Amino acid sequence: MSRFFSQKYSSLIPYTPGEQPKDTQYIKLNTNESPFSPSPTAQLYFSKAAENLQLYSDPECRELVRIASKRFGINEDEIIFSNGSDEVLNFAFMAFCDDNTPAVFPDITYGFYSVFAQINNLPYKQIPLNDDFKINIDDYKNVCGTIFIANPNAPTGIALTVNEIEEIVKSNPENVVVIDEAYVDFGAESVIPLTKKYDNLLVTQTFSKSRSLAGGRLGFGIGNKKLIQDLNTIKYSTNPYNVNSLTMAAGVGTLIDDIYCMDNCKKIIDNRAWTVDELTKLGFSMTESLTNFVFAKHSKVDGKVIYLKLKEKGVLVRHFDKEPLKAYNRITIGSKEQMAVLIEKLKEILEEEK
Ligand code: PMP
Repeated sequence: MSRFFSQKYSSLIPYTPGEQPKDTQYIKLNTNESPFSPSPTAQLYFSKAAENLQLYSDPECRELVRIASKRFGINEDEIIFSNGSDEVLNFAFMAFCDDNTPAVFPDITYGFYSVFAQINNLPYKQIPLNDDFKINIDDYKNVCGTIFIANPNAPTGIALTVNEIEEIVKSNPENVVVIDEAYVDFGAESVIPLTKKYDNLLVTQTFSKSRSLAGGRLGFGIGNKKLIQDLNTIKYSTNPYNVNSLTMAAGVGTLIDDIYCMDNCKKIIDNRAWTVDELTKLGFSMTESLTNFVFAKHSKVDGKVIYLKLKEKGVLVRHFDKEPLKAYNRITIGSKEQMAVLIEKLKEILEEEK
């Protein structure tokens, strides 16, 4: 820390992204990326957009908004695009929390929520999950604060139903409820349709997982137009050009090829089922994941040992070195071939650890 660093950030602990090593050709199953390339139209539009890179990007993201509003069945003033969904989530912390309105979220969830609260100097309350890592929806009824729920949750992969989320939204008419649907396309159900009915519901999604655009950084929020106006006030006060023109073009191409992306999600769901079966045969137990990752622990071998040995053997998974998560590893579901290598390497490790 330099002697110039603002006092107000001196105790800030930044979010730790998953490792991105460059030294070996790892099989990367640690950051929930897609194993599939961006859609062909996305790649084509991206290249064409490079011809006009001397111009600023469209701050209103009009083409993207037009095509996305059709895809998601909403009006054009009910969506905002952002630099990854992390950015729109941060906007939501800035816009909808203050000293009297703390952020409220589960104690085990996406690690960035507490960082967003801290950097914005906002109070926050963490609600423990049940022992089986499930969210108890009664804990979120009539709370005094802005609720943030990842659905499905991370790193557990467990999803609430639309009815359960509606109960939470309905019981908090004076508070905004933010549902982070980063992983919704892998088997859970989106609550976007509920944004028509409730003016306090904001849904965020990302192009990073189901749409193979993690490196492009594209996310969005959908909600009542007044909520979107508030988020735009934050956006236009920080970075009006938050989505660059290459990414915007790739996003349009991606939505044109939506069938390609949704077919890829089906492949991931199949690979997940295969992986869960194989892991179970090897003595692992898992939470019931509706995402592109599984959260798995072995009956005999320690989670950290598995993580380190897999890394030695060229397979990266995500390990959280704290209770009660340390027995587990979060393993991204990749291609069939990648999952076959994972299982082979795990068999070797279990043999070595006998
Ligand atoms: N929400 C959750 C639950 C996530 O796991 C992630 C990915 N790390 C994000 C949001 C943000 O993803 P992105 O910024 O790539 O859209």
